[in-house]
Amino acid sequence: MTVYERADRIGGLLMYGIPNMKLDKRIVVERRVKLMEDEGVKFVTNADIGVTHDAGELKRQFDAIILATGATKPRDLPMPGRNLKGVYFAMEFLTTNTKSLLDSNHADGNFINAQGKDVIVIGGGDTGNDCIGTSMRHDCRSLVNFELLPQPPPAAPRTTPGRSGRGFSAPTTATRRRRPRSAATRANSPSSPRNSSAMTAAISVA
Ligand SMILES: Cc1cc2nc3c(=O)[nH]c(=O)nc-3n(C[C@H](O)[C@H](O)[C@H](O)COP(=O)(O)OP(=O)(O)OC[C@H]3O[C@@H](n4cnc5c(N)ncnc54)[C@H](O)[C@@H]3O)c2cc1C
Repeated sequence: MTVYERADRIGGLLMYGIPNMKLDKRIVVERRVKLMEDEGVKFVTNADIGVTHDAGELKRQFDAIILATGATKPRDLPMPGRNLKGVYFAMEFLTTNTKSLLDSNHADGNFINAQGKDVIVIGGGDTGNDCIGTSMRHDCRSLVNFELLPQPPPAAPRTTPGRSGRGFSAPTTATRRRRPRSAATRANSPSSPRNSSAMTAAISVA
């Protein structure tokens, strides 16, 4: 079996979408990829099928092809000001952050830095949560999260499996951390701020 991957690392959103603070890439993703390599799976990175590799040629080489290309296209928010400087899709923010972290511990500066910025995250859910957590770890000055859905209840209902009894809070604003830490420590820190729910369309670090 051969896996062709467009990016320079295997793992898709697990590698570049979900930040390190939530999913350690070495312990989880790279370890699992290694296990599969040991089982004989071949991984080819920087292989953008249809661009760098001809799909017809692959059809001739292999008996079966599975398309597992994910959903790269973001949902836009067409509204006045959308094209202003400092408005990004969540995945631009998260992907460049993780790639720069893994490549150079952020030393290359190839990421959208929220440090000292007033940040707005539009949308919640896993993606919004990760944008909030990443902005906080960059030491943003302030953070506001806009969410379409109502604020979740202060405690999980009894019917929720795995309910801890401590409940969960959903602050919609947060202020900058007072004690700056190193970029790598912040990026890997599991102490994520609690947040709300739903889908992220854009992050503004104006
Ligand atoms: C920010 C964020 C946080 C999330 N957090 C969680 C969470 O906490 N818990 C949870 O369960 N889920 C979470 N998810 C959802 C989860 O990550 C996705 O549902 C899952 O990774 C989707 O897997 P996939 O293989 O379908 O797609 P992807 O992970 O997107 O993988 C598709 C791969 O195909 C590659 N590709 C695309 N086109 C080509 C091409 N032409 N040639 C070669 N390769 C190509 C892409 O580069 C990509 O690596 C989160 C998602 C995001 C975006």
